[in-house]
Amino acid sequence: MKKFSFRNLLRDFSDFLIFFLTIGFVVSCCMMLFLNVLANTMHLSFTSDNIEAAAKITFLNVLIITVIFKTVDAVRRKITVERPVRIITQTAEKIMNGDFSVRIRPMHGADVDGFNRIAEAINAMATELSGVETLRSDFIANVSHEMKTPLSVMQNYGKLLQTPDLSEEKRVEYAQAITDASVRLSDMMTNILKLNRLENQQIYPNLTAFDLGEQLCESLLQYESVWERKNMEIETDIAENVFVFADAELLSLVWNNLFSNAFKFTDDGGKVSLTLSADAEYASVRIADTGCGMTAEVGAHIFEKFYQGDASRATQGNGLGLALVKRVVDIMQGEIIVESAVGIGTAFTVRIRRGSHDVEEIR
Ligand code: ADP
Repeated sequence: MKKFSFRNLLRDFSDFLIFFLTIGFVVSCCMMLFLNVLANTMHLSFTSDNIEAAAKITFLNVLIITVIFKTVDAVRRKITVERPVRIITQTAEKIMNGDFSVRIRPMHGADVDGFNRIAEAINAMATELSGVETLRSDFIANVSHEMKTPLSVMQNYGKLLQTPDLSEEKRVEYAQAITDASVRLSDMMTNILKLNRLENQQIYPNLTAFDLGEQLCESLLQYESVWERKNMEIETDIAENVFVFADAELLSLVWNNLFSNAFKFTDDGGKVSLTLSADAEYASVRIADTGCGMTAEVGAHIFEKFYQGDASRATQGNGLGLALVKRVVDIMQGEIIVESAVGIGTAFTVRIRRGSHDVEEIR
């Protein structure tokens, strides 16, 4: 609402004066023209008294018309402009102060279409901000929760290490537990940072042409000690010379996470298989295991941050792996499909564009 001040009063008065003078000038010109035509056609002559009386009446008429018009206009402005502006400003101030639950109700009346459009945009912004706020607080709650477990492991084993006359065997065991917990903590922090950078688009894909089959083999070989220890079978069917034009580092993040899960969720003696196929436009990678599988309910949440479906293996991860995988696949405008059956196994299929034109050139 407009505040009362001398300056505002002066401005209102000068507005009024300009309007009054304009109307007065136009009406006087019209009057003079009219009287001139009347005098000529009817052969009348006006005395200065007649003209003075007419001028006074015209002045009064113009004054009354101007006052009425300005008053009606002020009331109209109050209802159709100042009120919506006040509602919108107050709502924006509440949003600025962190109240994302406020919404502007549709306004009715003439000339409010523009304001209703602004209101819709502000409502959409508040909805978006409240979603982001929920995600942020969920994220902080999850991070704090996930940090507590390794930290309390480190505290407990740290205290145990202070026990006098500790055997060498126990000392090594406790020190190992502390190291494992700190590795877990640092892995989690690394993943959170990567995810944060990916979500904020701070990572710009660094595109190069490379042999996807070779990259997949390198990634799989990192788990050689695991499959040997767990006596697992490995099956591969890798198409040759599948070059892609993509960000190698980001893609290796995808394969590492998918292999790590395949080996983690498959018991001793199981099988992990890798298939790479391609056509001119797309490359398709399938990483399948004969592990524990998952229910449809679990499958629906696996790409959410911090979601862990299998509580018994929760200590071996932090529920960020597949969130990272999904983000990378989205950035590459690819797609990821999961098929799974409890007790039978799981297969992830990732389809990415090969960027074939550029690859052909580089090859
Ligand atoms: P983490 O492996 O750290 O628990 P992820 O984000 O990598 O987190 O995976 C989320 C969840 O998806 C896992 O906790 C698990 O329940 C399910 N999952 C992922 N991969 C597999 C798989 N190969 N077999 C069975 N379940 C899986």
